[in-house]
Amino acid sequence: MLKFLAQRLSSMRRIFMVMIAFGLTMGLVFPQIVGPFVTWDPDRKIYFRLACLVAGFLVGTFCYFLVKITLYQRNMELAQRKVELEDAKEKFSTLTHKVIRTQDWNVIFEDPHLPNCWEVKNCSSTACPVYGRVHVRCWLIAGTFCNEKVQGRFAQKLADCSECSVYRQAVGQNPINEIGENFNSLMLAVREKEELLAAANDELKDQYAELEILHKQAREMADTDLLTGLRNHAHFQHHLRWEVDRACRQHKPLSLIMLDLDHFKTINDRFGHQKGDEVLKRVGKLLRNEIRKGGYTARYGGEEFMVVLPEAPSGEAMITADRLRSLMKEVAHEVELPENLVSASVGVGDLPDCASDADSLISAADTALLFAKRCGRDRVVYFRDLSGAELKDRRRTRGW
Ligand code: GH3
Ligand code: MG
Ligand code: MG
Repeated sequence: MLKFLAQRLSSMRRIFMVMIAFGLTMGLVFPQIVGPFVTWDPDRKIYFRLACLVAGFLVGTFCYFLVKITLYQRNMELAQRKVELEDAKEKFSTLTHKVIRTQDWNVIFEDPHLPNCWEVKNCSSTACPVYGRVHVRCWLIAGTFCNEKVQGRFAQKLADCSECSVYRQAVGQNPINEIGENFNSLMLAVREKEELLAAANDELKDQYAELEILHKQAREMADTDLLTGLRNHAHFQHHLRWEVDRACRQHKPLSLIMLDLDHFKTINDRFGHQKGDEVLKRVGKLLRNEIRKGGYTARYGGEEFMVVLPEAPSGEAMITADRLRSLMKEVAHEVELPENLVSASVGVGDLPDCASDADSLISAADTALLFAKRCGRDRVVYFRDLSGAELKDRRRTRGW
């Protein structure tokens, strides 16, 4: 109902309505009320009614303007408040923009009217960092002390600050100060969390680097034969397949040398397993030294070793294999064993002449090695040099 009237009636109509309503009330009702107590001169009764009507209009108009003036004053106050708020908004916006631009994350109020804590509290702690400084409040500075109590940063001492008369006076002056201080405390708390996160991140990075090293070491150990330091059987199998794939793709030759120490069991039996270990270590060292750039060496099993020579045709591999065989005498010298006790039989196979894949290449070198043993040991045999009958025999039995 009120909304309907407010929408339909303009201000002037409302004034008119109020005046009419008051005038009618005064002009019609008032004479009725006072009628029984007054003796009317019939000629004058109409003038009295008219006077009441006019008086009603006047009172109505007066009331209306009274309300209007009150509202006008209220509007003026609201407009004033709005201007203040706009100013505050502008000021805060400037401060926050500055904070964001400088990445300082600290709103500084260049407001000369803010109280200085040392003045308000009549403080004489000259050693306090804020003592005597102009426009500086204690909560803006870390490590200040109040009543002999050292204060932390604002974010840490916020509860104490809100009980401090200086702080309350400062933020009470202007709501923007309070917003700014709360923003500062928020940013300090965020910065503290950021620092904690950065420290945790650094620690994680260190741990990750340490883990990576350990992981690398573990992988290295998993791929390495601990006695000789050469790659182990598992690594060899993986590596040979990779090399064979590459050689096939690039249509390049690939040679495999398989080396087995002769009568190694005798060395163990006669001189002990530690001496046997020493021989294996020396052979590992010899292979590492002799097979350098591009080549690959591994301990295949007990006293068996593999050498992979990428891009090497069988002729080159045979020369290398024979050099390795002849160097066994040096190993004997190094481990102080009779020369004739340390020797090796060597089998050589290659791609694409002897085999087409990794398994058949190992098999070719293994077969050649077997015939090197059969033919009296301490020699090198190339798989392709085996006769058809020998190969047939090889297929029939593997024993001696
Ligand atoms: P062949 O000339 O026929 O190869 O004779 P062999 O004695 O070398 O071969 P056999 O297979 O009969 O014996 C291999 C020996 O190698 C048996 C085993 O005790 C020894 N061996 C295997 N691994 C190790 C090791 O890590 N250290 C030592 N000391 N001996 C090992
Ligand atoms: Mg052997
Ligand atoms: Mg063997």
